[in-house]
Amino acid sequence: MAYDFDLYVIGAGSGGVRAARFAAGFGAKVAVAESRYLGGTCVNVGCVPKKLLVYGAHFADDFEQASGFGWTLGQAQFDWPTLIANKDREINRLNGIYRNLLVNSGVTLHEGHAKIVDPHQVEVNGECFTAKNILIATGGWPQIPEIPGHEHAISSNQAFFLKELPERVLVVGGGYIAVEFAGIFHGLGAQTTLVYRGEMFLRGFDGSVRKHLQEELTKRGMDLQFNADIERIDKQADGSLKVTLKDGRQLEADCVFYATGRRPMLDNLGLENTGVKLDKKGFVEVDDLYQTAEPSILALGDVIGRVQLTPVALAEGMAVARRLFKPEQYRPVDYKMIPTAVFSLPNIGTVGLTEEEAREAGHEVQIFESRFRPMKLTLTECQERTLMKLVVDAKTDKVLGCHMVGPEAGEIVQGLAIALKAGATKRDFDETIGVHPTAAEEFVTMRTPVAG
Ligand code: FAD
Ligand code: NDP
Repeated sequence: MAYDFDLYVIGAGSGGVRAARFAAGFGAKVAVAESRYLGGTCVNVGCVPKKLLVYGAHFADDFEQASGFGWTLGQAQFDWPTLIANKDREINRLNGIYRNLLVNSGVTLHEGHAKIVDPHQVEVNGECFTAKNILIATGGWPQIPEIPGHEHAISSNQAFFLKELPERVLVVGGGYIAVEFAGIFHGLGAQTTLVYRGEMFLRGFDGSVRKHLQEELTKRGMDLQFNADIERIDKQADGSLKVTLKDGRQLEADCVFYATGRRPMLDNLGLENTGVKLDKKGFVEVDDLYQTAEPSILALGDVIGRVQLTPVALAEGMAVARRLFKPEQYRPVDYKMIPTAVFSLPNIGTVGLTEEEAREAGHEVQIFESRFRPMKLTLTECQERTLMKLVVDAKTDKVLGCHMVGPEAGEIVQGLAIALKAGATKRDFDETIGVHPTAAEEFVTMRTPVAG
């Protein structure tokens, strides 16, 4: 049977655009449907606007530290609407770039909600299109628990468009988004409380990193409330919010921001018309080749719930395009050694195993750790400290993990990730000449293990 398209991609986010562009580049006839915004979560309500706001928040530190270097500044003033308007302008520009990327690669763009009608057919804006393969790349959506008063809370989707900076913000959650946005609000001058249900936030990150960030955020004056869970939120007569915790305590805020994870975006997608199966957590189940239980339908990115990061969705998009249309170039995505950063203030950068994971996996480990005051701060009052940590296999000398909390940790860890992926040993690190004077050189000068 002749189909309208070889591949119909649903969702023009990180993974969908990458798969569509490369598939078209390999000669396939490709369409992509997008219901909301070109570039998806990352470009519109994720990585990009988030990083711009983090840059904005960082100026508070820069202004404070400038006097140590002889600068006298007037009273610094911050205007939230200006930051948001400039951010929106930049996102609009990026939307245009994504449109051009798709159109110039020969991809047909359908702007509207796509619904799968049958395993080879998609309906958009009342029109049906047939395709040999359909790719679900619909991403995720913030998930707010349905506690009484949850309708008064916002998620990251709304935070990027607030009309004004709230005076008091209560951030709920202890993952990437909670920690990053708590840093943004706090840095920009809001009185910020982070409420996390467990003992210690950032579950899954190295223990030293979690503790170090907790200490640094506390030093900065952020109110961290761990072992605290919200029971209800009530709107008061003056518009402020009263938050009641399960232990009976009450907190007041002008904005309650939930960052408690993301669900797969499957709304009105028509999966009931297919044999696609979901996993226990509700994400689309795929095999190693991103194949769903329905032979003509594939899925990738946040909607499969493996690793919810843009570079991972990009790699999966590339793998799908190659697998379908350039099989001789197909290489599976390597999910080991994925570097990642949390753009908290200060940043976390990490790659490889945490100390806890390495021990659990049966490695005999050597731990190298360094804590120091960054050189830039020596002329300032700021008491922030940087943490660098290496987890090494004592038997093979292989570096299993690198972890950092400090300025530009994400930038530094990207380079280290190449070394770890190539199987670098501690001896390789030791024999590498440092770049002086930098913080990064500390990673090649740690000589004495702090724990074995
Ligand atoms: P998405 O980018 O979400 O794209 C899915 C697209 O599908 C959307 O545009 C949506 O509108 C569209 N769509 C959905 N349903 C339909 C339908 N039925 N019809 C048509 N279109 C549809 N990752 C990082 O690596 N670094 C970061 O710093 C980072 N920061 C983040 C900050 C925040 C606040 C958030 C929320 C996420 C962040 N992420 C970050 C994660 C990253 O954004 C995601 O992992 C990535 O966007 C996933 O890409 P995707 O292609 O799977 O989905
Ligand atoms: P995460 O999964 O990272 O964190 C969710 C947090 O919410 C956890 O601390 C979790 O606690 C807590 N939580 C979950 N359910 C509840 C509940 N019912 N009540 C109270 N707390 C709850 O999700 P995020 O929303 O922060 O981010 C989604 C994903 O987006 C991230 O996992 C990441 O992959 C990606 N992202 C990446 C960024 C980056 O690369 N810099 C930045 C932002 C997002 P517990 O640990 O106890 O389960």
